[in-house]
Amino acid sequence: MAKAVVVGAGPNGLAAAITLARSGLEVTVLEAATRIGGGTKTTERFFPGLLHDDCSAVHPTAMASPFFRSLDLERHGLRWCHPEIMLAHPLDDGSSGALHRSMSRTVQALGRPDGARWRALFGALATDLENSATDVLGPVLTVPDHPIRFARFGLRAAMPAALMSRMWKGAQAKALFAGVAAHLMYPLSAPLSSSVAALLIAAGHRFGWPVAQGGSRSITDALARELAEYGGIVETGVRVSRLRDLPVADVVVFDLMPGAVADLMGDRLPARVSRSYRRWAHGSGAFKVDFAVEGGVPWSSAECRAAGTVHAGGTAREVGRTLRAVRNGVLPDQPFVLVGQQYLADPTRSVNNIHPVWAYAHVPNGFHGDATDLVVRQIERFAPGFRDRILAHAGRSCADLESDNANYVDGDIIGGAGSPWQLVARPRLSFNPYFTGVPGFYLCSAATPPGAGVHGMNGHHAARAALKALRV
Ligand SMILES: Cc1cc2nc3c(=O)[nH]c(=O)nc-3n(C[C@H](O)[C@H](O)[C@H](O)COP(=O)(O)OP(=O)(O)OC[C@H]3O[C@@H](n4cnc5c(N)ncnc54)[C@H](O)[C@@H]3O)c2cc1C
Repeated sequence: MAKAVVVGAGPNGLAAAITLARSGLEVTVLEAATRIGGGTKTTERFFPGLLHDDCSAVHPTAMASPFFRSLDLERHGLRWCHPEIMLAHPLDDGSSGALHRSMSRTVQALGRPDGARWRALFGALATDLENSATDVLGPVLTVPDHPIRFARFGLRAAMPAALMSRMWKGAQAKALFAGVAAHLMYPLSAPLSSSVAALLIAAGHRFGWPVAQGGSRSITDALARELAEYGGIVETGVRVSRLRDLPVADVVVFDLMPGAVADLMGDRLPARVSRSYRRWAHGSGAFKVDFAVEGGVPWSSAECRAAGTVHAGGTAREVGRTLRAVRNGVLPDQPFVLVGQQYLADPTRSVNNIHPVWAYAHVPNGFHGDATDLVVRQIERFAPGFRDRILAHAGRSCADLESDNANYVDGDIIGGAGSPWQLVARPRLSFNPYFTGVPGFYLCSAATPPGAGVHGMNGHHAARAALKALRV
C-alpha cells in the first residue's frame, strides 16, 4: 500500500489526508500543536462552557466547498447554524447595510436603486455557484468546467473593489460591499480586489454565512472522524523541522507556508521554485480580541443586533483608507474591526446571559503593539456602552498568532498578501501550483489556490495532483 505523510492538521491538511486515505493510501498526519485544527479551533477561554473560536468563525466557503459537500460531515455531528442576518455594516448615523441570506430581503433592505444593482451583480453568481464552485474554488490557470459561469464570476472578481463600490448610490450599500472586499486585507484600488467579495456574497446568498454548532472545532472534529474511518492516523505535538524527520512515504503534502517549505526542503527544491517560495509575500496582520460580554453588544443599529458578523469600519471610503494605511505600515486610530456574534445563531456557546464576542482588527504586518483599546473603541463607536458590559477580554498580537500556528507569519492570517500577482500565481505561476517540483512533494496550505478559508479545497486539489502522479 502506498504511504502518505501530511504535515499540518489544519482544514487543508485534513482534507488532503482524507482525499489520499479514501483512495487507499496509508496516511499519517503530523501536527506541531497539541490540538489539531489549525485555524479551526475553539477554546473555553474565560468561563467553563463559554466557547470562543480561536480563529475561523463564519463559514460561507465551507458551505460552498464541493469537497466538504462530498463528505456528509453532518454524519459526524457537524451542525450548521444560521444567524437571522448574515452581516451588518453600521454607519455613524445609526443606519447600516445588511446582507441577508435571501437576495430579496437584501434587495429590499438596500432600497432603490441599490437593491436592483445588487441583484444584477450577484444574483446569477449566487444561483450558479453550486455548479461553478469547482472552478471558482480551484486553480486559476486551468480550463474551467463551466467557462461562461466562470467568466461571469471573473468579470466581477477582476474589478478593483473601490471602483465596484461606486456602482451603488447609498452609503449603506457602498460600505456593505467594501467591508466584504476588505476580507482580502489588501487596498481596494487593486485589480482583483473584488474577488473575495464576489465569492463571499455569492456563497452567502446561495448557502448562508453559518457557524458550526459548538464552535469551529466541530468542523475539525468531523474531518478527523472522517479521516479515522479511512484508517488515517494523526500525531500531535510533532513539529517537522527537517525533511529527514519524516517517515518514508510515497507522497508528502505540506499544509505550510511556502517559506517554511523552502527552509524544510533546502537544496532539494529546484532553484526557481525555491526562489518563488522565498519571495512569497505576507500581507497585513490581525490583532485578535476575545470578549466575554454580559448581555451582548449594545449596537445602535437593530440589524447589527441580529447579525452573525458585523463590520465596524465606517464608510466605504474609510474602509479603503484604512486598508491602504495598514498596508503602508500605519495602524489608524479607527481600524477596520470584524466582530463575530456566533452565539446569536448558536446559543450553546453562551453561559446564561454572558456571551462570547469574537473580534479582530486589521493591523500592519508584524505589528507589535496592543490594539485592544482601539478595538474596544471602534466597537463602542457603533455600540455605546459596550465597554461597560465586558467581563473579561484577551488580546492576541501578530506574534501570539504566529506562535500558536507557524502558518500565520507575522500575523498574516490569510496565507499571503492579496496582491493581484499572488492571487493568480499561488504560490508560483504554474499549471500545477500544488507540486513543489520534487516528485512526491506537494503544498496544500492557504498559500495555494483557492486561498484562505475553511473549505479544504486546497488540500483536496493537492492530494488529487499527488494521486494523479501516482496514477491512483
Ligand atoms: C483570527 C482568524 C479569523 C479567521 N476567520 C475565518 C473565518 O471566519 N472563516 C474562514 O473560512 N476562515 C477564517 N480564517 C482563515 C482560516 O482559519 C484559514 O484560512 C484556514 O485555517 C487555513 O487552513 P490550512 O489548513 O491551510 O492552515 P491552518 O489552519 O493554518 O493549519 C496549519 C497547521 O499546520 C501546523 N503546522 C505549522 N507548521 C508545522 C510544522 N513545521 N510541523 C507540523 N505542523 C505544523 C499548524 O500548527 C496548523 O495546525 C481565520 C483565521 C484567523 C487566524
